[in-house]
Amino acid sequence: MNRQFPGTPGHQRFLLGLSRTLLDAPAGKLAGVLVIRFRHLHEIQVDYGYQQAEQALASFARRIGGVLRDVDIIERIGDFTLALTLPALSGSQQAELAASRILELVEVPVEIGNDKLTLKLDLGVAMYPADGHAPESLLRCAEVACDAAANTVNGYQRYSESLEDRTDLPRSYLMEREIADALRNDEFRLYMQPKIDLRTGALTGAEALLRWDRPDGRQFRPDVFIPVAENSNLIVPLTIWTLNAALRSSDELTARFPAFTVAVNLSPSALSHGDIFAHVAQATSIWCSDQPQLVLEITETALFKEPERAAQTLDALHAEGIRLSIDDFGTGYSSLSQLAALRVGELKIDKSFVQGVTRIEKNAQIVRSIIDLAHNFDMTVVAEGIEDAQTLEFLRALECDAGQGFYFARPMPVEQFIDWADSYQPRPQFASVVGLVQG
Ligand code: C2E
Ligand code: CA
Ligand code: CA
Repeated sequence: MNRQFPGTPGHQRFLLGLSRTLLDAPAGKLAGVLVIRFRHLHEIQVDYGYQQAEQALASFARRIGGVLRDVDIIERIGDFTLALTLPALSGSQQAELAASRILELVEVPVEIGNDKLTLKLDLGVAMYPADGHAPESLLRCAEVACDAAANTVNGYQRYSESLEDRTDLPRSYLMEREIADALRNDEFRLYMQPKIDLRTGALTGAEALLRWDRPDGRQFRPDVFIPVAENSNLIVPLTIWTLNAALRSSDELTARFPAFTVAVNLSPSALSHGDIFAHVAQATSIWCSDQPQLVLEITETALFKEPERAAQTLDALHAEGIRLSIDDFGTGYSSLSQLAALRVGELKIDKSFVQGVTRIEKNAQIVRSIIDLAHNFDMTVVAEGIEDAQTLEFLRALECDAGQGFYFARPMPVEQFIDWADSYQPRPQFASVVGLVQG
């Protein structure tokens, strides 16, 4: 939530322009207010420098200018945020059309330094007069929609009153204390989602995923609280909690399924925390009677933020017999030489590529390339987000090693997972292969 002080000049200029538009609005005409927020711009600033990030933003803003009419107004209202006024529209479809044109523009990468990056953005739309009459409230509605757009597949959201429910999420400065309390009061739950061998259909392990069951009965997903924990020191105790909970349960699971591995997500800020290796080693020594069957999933961006330091930590973990997996692979910008230099055993293809792999040729090409790349580097490759039989077949034909997704099972509380694992039978597609393997 990146609300700006109303005092910034861009913000004031925008509101002034919007109020003139509303004053001059011809009878019966509508106006659209769009808020566009760039994701990852801060990381780009850190990696490439402020100047380069600003240039990329400016060139993208010019691109947006190219699809607007002369009467439309575009203004930068915050570090990562643009706002637009589209006056004199005859229907809200015109605002939606402009939004979809802008979202198409991100498909073309922007040049930054010697690289080409695809920017990611969230876009919220509010309409005058349906959503409000005052400039401030219209802009606020567009911001609320933009916040909600972050949770949609295409990054687009039209304002509606139901989105206001989300504003009862605690603000991050309040949530920090609540997370600390929740750790003390044992409100976190460990969920597990199975990982399946795509050749045989066998259960090979699980990914540990956090949930927060709050005393008011609501359950928060990690997308809500992990970023807050990451921005405070709380990510360390939270990671330790997860590691211990996952290893405690996996000991029971490895007793029943000898090759079972449990995967724990390691946040970027946890990785750069000097002690993380010590905490991992301590947790494995407490819970693992034998060689630890632990996989740590680390995102690509996290690994290459501080490559030397990451390489040291990874070497130390590797020496302990802990396997490393690069999560959300394909969404970052790691180079082949960086990849080859790290002791990584597994690549996980992000679900944004896996979903639609049977329909979108670009996704198919990306998935195919990642699988080849992993195999050329002697790594295993896991696809996340398998939701249907067709996607499963597609991935099996490409010889993807393992997979997880709603098609097999949704993440479930650990106790339930243990029962699920006990009665697990591979889906019929695997029948012939399982027969071979077991026979
Ligand atoms: P991730 O590591 O990419 O985890 C996969 C996410 O995809 C999970 O969301 C999972 O529930 C969801 N998913 C699995 N299969 C499917 C499918 O077939 N379709 C769809 N649409 N989604 C699927 P979840 O549990 O909400 O976790 C979101 C993110 O939060 C995770 O993304 C991970 O980055 C983070 N996270 C979760 N638990 C932890 C944790 O213990 N520590 C840290 N640092 N991060 C965590
Ligand atoms: Ca993961
Ligand atoms: Ca992912």
